[in-house]
Amino acid sequence: MSSSTTSRQQQHQQPQQQHRLSMFDRDDDGGSGGGLNSAADLLVFNSNQKLSITQQRIALPIFQVRRQILYLLETHQTLVIVGNTGCGKTTQIPQYLVEAGWAEGGRSIVCTQPRRVAAMSVANRVAEETGTNIGEIVGYAVRFEDTITESTKIKYMTDGMLIREMMMDPLLSRYPVIMIDEAHERSLPTDILMGLLKKVQARRKDLKIIVSSATLDAEDMCQFFNSNRTGDKSKDTAVILSIEGRNYPVDIHYLLKSSVNYIDTTTTTIVDIHTTQPPGDVLVFLTGQEEIETIRRALEDRLSDANGKSRRLSPYKIIPLYSGLPMTKQMKVFEKPDIKVRKIILATNIAETSITIDGIVYVVDTGFVKIKTYSGRSGLESLVVVPTSQASANQRAGRAGRNRPGKCYRLYTQEAFSKLSVHTLPEIQRSNLAPVVLQLKALGIDNILNFDFVSPPPPDAMIRALEVLYALGALNDDCKLTTPVGHIMAEFPVEPQFSRMILSSVNYGCSEEIITIVAMLSIQGLFVNQSQSIRRSFTVKEGDHLTLLNLFNIFSRKSKSDSSWCHENQINYKVMLRCVQVRKQLLAYAKKYQIKLISITDNNDKNIPDKTVPIRKAIVSGFFTNAAHLQPDGSYQTVKDKHKLWIHPTSVLSTVNSPEWVLFHDVTVTTKEFMKELCVIEPSWLYEIAPHFYKFKS
Ligand code: ADP
Ligand code: MG
Repeated sequence: MSSSTTSRQQQHQQPQQQHRLSMFDRDDDGGSGGGLNSAADLLVFNSNQKLSITQQRIALPIFQVRRQILYLLETHQTLVIVGNTGCGKTTQIPQYLVEAGWAEGGRSIVCTQPRRVAAMSVANRVAEETGTNIGEIVGYAVRFEDTITESTKIKYMTDGMLIREMMMDPLLSRYPVIMIDEAHERSLPTDILMGLLKKVQARRKDLKIIVSSATLDAEDMCQFFNSNRTGDKSKDTAVILSIEGRNYPVDIHYLLKSSVNYIDTTTTTIVDIHTTQPPGDVLVFLTGQEEIETIRRALEDRLSDANGKSRRLSPYKIIPLYSGLPMTKQMKVFEKPDIKVRKIILATNIAETSITIDGIVYVVDTGFVKIKTYSGRSGLESLVVVPTSQASANQRAGRAGRNRPGKCYRLYTQEAFSKLSVHTLPEIQRSNLAPVVLQLKALGIDNILNFDFVSPPPPDAMIRALEVLYALGALNDDCKLTTPVGHIMAEFPVEPQFSRMILSSVNYGCSEEIITIVAMLSIQGLFVNQSQSIRRSFTVKEGDHLTLLNLFNIFSRKSKSDSSWCHENQINYKVMLRCVQVRKQLLAYAKKYQIKLISITDNNDKNIPDKTVPIRKAIVSGFFTNAAHLQPDGSYQTVKDKHKLWIHPTSVLSTVNSPEWVLFHDVTVTTKEFMKELCVIEPSWLYEIAPHFYKFKS
């Protein structure tokens, strides 16, 4: 699905890929694993834990520039702050602002985060630093959870929540300062927020914006906010402040010729570093959990071999690091067992910016990263392994020079480096845009093509989004939001396909069931063991949506405090409770928009012998784009775009006779492109429910 495959990549033994359609509001770290993190589970290391809170705050690098930050904010509309992860941007800047009086007179400071876990975790930390309870001075607002009260002065929110707030208060008038945090990630909502805030700033000269980034690559963002067109630098309205400007030099080494065996080249390089180079820890960038485990095994074999054969090697410790790993294991990257022991950290991209590890002297950069991509043509979003960008390669190399001069081994040629794209494509250029377009429309931005994007999205993705929203009934012939459907869909805190399903379900007499299904599909990590299809014991032959509904109904008939049933069935009890929470929230929204709650079980109409039909039709009303037809070879083909897909082994439909027509929720690619969460449908429903999208003959 990605077109950026290079010859270099083909030569490699390709790391396994995992693709899926992603949710608008993400629960986890964007797909690199895990998804089970709770508020307490964010990887942070505090080297000053033994000091008092005040001393800890003073010891942070950012404290050195506290006055400079406050001064630059007085003199400029926008301040871009660049500093390594851990230097104190997120926790300290909002506190400095409050201390300097920015939050007086009923105002408050907002700091946005791309991930909900981060917003919750950092709010808890700052509440602790201020010695208050969460919600008093410091609070957070994330999808389905809000701890903000009248007295809250520092609000940590996801970017998505702040965008939502603009529907009520377009100028965000209560906020004198808005900090857009983790801007280097260029997440989709962050980019939209930057565009929106630039518009607000044009109307509200008093609004100060702080953009915070963990990479030096911040010039574009500064230029974006700079409204000075005179050419006179002294009149700039945006300025960059760099904390910890100095990094030690890093020696870059390239391969002389492309590697044929990726795994082997990586292990050999690590072994060479360990056997020939002076002390210093090694950080290896890999693409995912499976690759990390493969390299770890290969490395253990090679190092123990070398130990036996030649001389005794100096001690080493191999430490894997990826977000699906339990927190206690992730924390091991920060432990310093013994000065003589060399740490060899095998990490995913999270070590590039999300965390900062001291003591790294050698970086091994395999040159790949797993990211989300989107094809406007097939309408499918997926996680794919692609070559990194030059910016990303430089950021990785910089991890070797934090404490002293370091070395970076790039496992590709210098020529290959020169051919890499300069920047990583921001998420907005590789995403499904339907949710974005819907939200912008709801904010009164009708001419989406003229919107001032930091990086404009590709036209085919934009067209696809308009087409889908039109077919969903959210837009009318003039491309305007429909009333009330389009407006309700924009305000519902779920993807438009989901809100459409909920709205339609009333007509099918099954809103209770559909809300449960939406809640079940909104959570992640329900099954303790993914590889085993535990869900089979709850099988409903019409597919996974109905199976999940069945599972929820059985659970809700049990006593809530009884976690043993979950345990017996290998279902994650905590995740199940979260689903109950999400469902409650959705019910509250349904009430707000006067969506009638009806259950199909209360319907005694003899004309509906199969009660799953109305439920399945309601599902079709949201996900008609994802319909697929059985092919002679057992694969499926999407109806609209003729894209080849297979049924994923975890689906309850994988063990039955393949149904002729299915509808899927998600795509995952490992060895093939697999559909996940399937529902058996009748082809006539597609034409009946989405005639604009499917103009084929019945
Ligand atoms: P940045 O935003 O620049 O990455 P933060 O403000 O998040 O930095 O963190 C600054 C420092 O505060 C960290 O280096 C760590 O020492 C401490 N810290 C942050 N969060 C926590 C936490 N949850 N528990 C303990 N210490 C923390
Ligand atoms: Mg931060």
